[in-house]
Amino acid sequence: MKLTVVVPSYNEGSAIRLTYEKLKDILKSYCLTQKYDYEFIFVDDGSRDDTLNVIKQFQRFDTHVKYISFTRNFGKEAGILAGLAYSSGDAVILMDADLQHPPELIPKMLEYYIEGYDQVVAKRNRTGDSKSKTLFSKLYYKMVNHLVDVKLEDGVGDFRLLSRRAVKALLSMHEYNRFSKGMFSWIGFNVKVIEYENQQRVTGTSKWSFTKLVQYGIDGILSFNNKPLRSTLYLGFIMVVLGIAYILYSLIRVLVVGIDTPGYFTIISAILIMGGAQLLSIGVIGEYIGRIYYEVKKRPHFLIEETNIERVKQKRYWEDKYEA
Ligand code: UDP
Ligand code: MG
Repeated sequence: MKLTVVVPSYNEGSAIRLTYEKLKDILKSYCLTQKYDYEFIFVDDGSRDDTLNVIKQFQRFDTHVKYISFTRNFGKEAGILAGLAYSSGDAVILMDADLQHPPELIPKMLEYYIEGYDQVVAKRNRTGDSKSKTLFSKLYYKMVNHLVDVKLEDGVGDFRLLSRRAVKALLSMHEYNRFSKGMFSWIGFNVKVIEYENQQRVTGTSKWSFTKLVQYGIDGILSFNNKPLRSTLYLGFIMVVLGIAYILYSLIRVLVVGIDTPGYFTIISAILIMGGAQLLSIGVIGEYIGRIYYEVKKRPHFLIEETNIERVKQKRYWEDKYEA
């Protein structure tokens, strides 16, 4: 039995040492008693600080440490994908580098894995988050679950254990836009949820700005199905019905009362509403076309500049052909 811990890290020079020390302590003692083997895969996502150097220092004294360094910042999803693709464990744990995902939960996750769960998910509560953020995300998840087919849950993120089966399932999904929250839910399997107390990051700053969050939110709605397209169809249908009703009403009025010319208000309202509805629909279609554009290019998800994983070294670094 071997465990892989994947840690995507971007500009985490200040936090990653603490994370590593803590992880190492826990895994060393736990895996020794259970006779498990383990490895860490640190994915340096094109950091501009000394993250990579710090990781390389770990690797000098600890053969369990593997690293993959990208040529530039490809985003967390790419980091997770690379970690999964080059992991060799029977179970893989995904974890942030800032200790917001407490490593103390790992033994408990492994217990559930041994019990036969394919996904063990750690769910955080929202203590310490600002009230507005909590409310906003609550509303968001309420709405989004009406709009998409897979179930997305608040507080459930990337901190989870995946069995080899589940990893294979994820790697068999080759889409370019990887919305992992939806993908984890999409693959299914038997899932166990354990809860933990929300943690603040140890040092450094979050890479999430408000606009990034909004974009992530839109991704969540659009990445998983064509329901938004369907709803523009409904919108068009409603508009046509309303339009016909209004035309009939005006026609009858003309026949009964005669023509009255002053109609600025009705005309301007109709133009504005119709224009808005059309722009909205074109926007939705555009979003999907944009996604199709990226999908058909079939670009690799990441490019590797440097690594100490033999299996990856044997390939040319620019080849992103991982096996499912
Ligand atoms: N991360 C990454 N690439 C990025 C942004 C973030 O690999 O482009 C990593 C980051 O180093 C951390 C994890 O993803 O380990 C979560 O990022 P962060 O803590 O900024 O997000 P938050 O916890 O605020 O959601
Ligand atoms: Mg964080």
